[in-house]
Amino acid sequence: MPSKPTYIVLLGPPASGKGTQAARLCEELELPHIASGDLFRENFKHETELGAKAKAYIDRGALVPDDITIAMVMKRLGRPDCAQGAILDGFPRTIPQAKALDTALAEQGFRVSITPYIAVPDEVIIERVSGRRVCRTCGETYHVKYYPPQEAGLCDQDGGELYQRDDDKPETVRERLKVYWEQTSPLIDYYRKQSTLVEIDGNQPIDAVTKDLRAVFGA
Ligand code: AMP
Ligand code: ZN
Repeated sequence: MPSKPTYIVLLGPPASGKGTQAARLCEELELPHIASGDLFRENFKHETELGAKAKAYIDRGALVPDDITIAMVMKRLGRPDCAQGAILDGFPRTIPQAKALDTALAEQGFRVSITPYIAVPDEVIIERVSGRRVCRTCGETYHVKYYPPQEAGLCDQDGGELYQRDDDKPETVRERLKVYWEQTSPLIDYYRKQSTLVEIDGNQPIDAVTKDLRAVFGA
């Protein structure tokens, strides 16, 4: 019998390194990296109806309503490349989203396998986000001080232009952190009760965090 799919949920505040770590681990774990924020940004780029609905929330640092978000992520998880599971980054972000995911997986006899929580203090988040830059072409992220590209303003992979996300501006970051503590941090307890939570120190160099995550996955 084929083994059950592996669903990894990465928890942690914005800019805790979830995206960077997922991008590194998805190849060795042979699982697709599903980032809800990236799905929304793809929708903006293609000017879809969903993108138009989500934009106002994202621009002010609020969460997109659960029904829109759940439908979008579930549709993505239903694609054939997710047959063996996925690394989820940025979803779930609320208790109703976590419950919807649990229900959808349980219907197929599956469950969330493990939920690493990448813990990073708020002050560090604010500094990280203010220096974060993203490639317009491939979505790779850099930091002007901690993870600079070889040539300022250009992506190492494809030479794409690097930009600062509108929601990475300081006022919006403070709002996103508030939203994180109010609406997303309860997931830490939710998954602790399910015995899937593993806390990782995210206030370390990128490679050290990857090493700790690998140890968790036995990769
Ligand atoms: P991210 O790239 O994960 O930081 O997400 C960027 C923005 O997209 C967030 O600040 C939210 O406005 C929205 N977003 C991403 N994932 C979710 C989610 N699971 N639930 C609600 N809103 C989300
Ligand atoms: Zn690029």
